[in-house]
Amino acid sequence: MDVTAKLLRLYQVEKQLRGLQARLQAAEKFLAEQDKDLGSLSSKRAELEQQIKLLRAQAGDREGEVKRLDERMATIRKQMENAQTNKEYQAFLTELNNYKVDRDRLETAALEFMQKVEDLTKTVEAIEGQRNERDKVRGVAQTDREARFKEIETRLVELKAQREQAAADVPGDVLQMLTRLLNQRGEEAMASVQVEDRKRHEYTCGACQMSIPVDAVSALLSKGKLTLCSSCQCILYLDEDAMKALNPPKAGPKSGAKK
Ligand SMILES: [Zn+2]
Repeated sequence: MDVTAKLLRLYQVEKQLRGLQARLQAAEKFLAEQDKDLGSLSSKRAELEQQIKLLRAQAGDREGEVKRLDERMATIRKQMENAQTNKEYQAFLTELNNYKVDRDRLETAALEFMQKVEDLTKTVEAIEGQRNERDKVRGVAQTDREARFKEIETRLVELKAQREQAAADVPGDVLQMLTRLLNQRGEEAMASVQVEDRKRHEYTCGACQMSIPVDAVSALLSKGKLTLCSSCQCILYLDEDAMKALNPPKAGPKSGAKK
């Protein structure tokens, strides 16, 4: 087996591995998105609950003050009943009215705080609903991820063993080159030569479509020499179609090529 054939074998295993892993990665990405959304819904809920706690405390303070004023006003009313003079009575009345104004203001404030608490509680409930929905989606995503992993687990182990075997046959520096190309270009690390016109020696790179000199194609065909596309630097090989086009059947009605 020549070096290009060895590389091609490794590349084909690698392509299958990447295809399998891509499906798993898509499932994992979807699952991670659900976790992220759940996390942000949870922190939003926690933030709102903190606000609610604060608003309740503020409402509680106002209500406490209202109660204190009510007690104070009850005392004043008693003092009014026992007032000795009209002047004294009027003074208590003024004080009482001042307290009433304060009391109303505090009561309104307490109600406003409680209204906000009610509004925010509704928002929290809505978020909780969203969280439950998202949690269901997450459950499905998790199951899907597990199923996909189980589906490919055996095949993944097989392919990894095949990759190891195929890689062991490839010289170290060439292997490094393929690995680098795979990381940079993915499936376009290798490409087949396209035979555009055999008689006119027109060949192109299957990845970048730029032309390839006839010498390079001959070296590939005869010795499987390691050949890079001079334009895109991918490793070239000859696939079945290219082989057929380069080695047309000897006998046949249409094989009367001119010399
Ligand atoms: Zn190319």
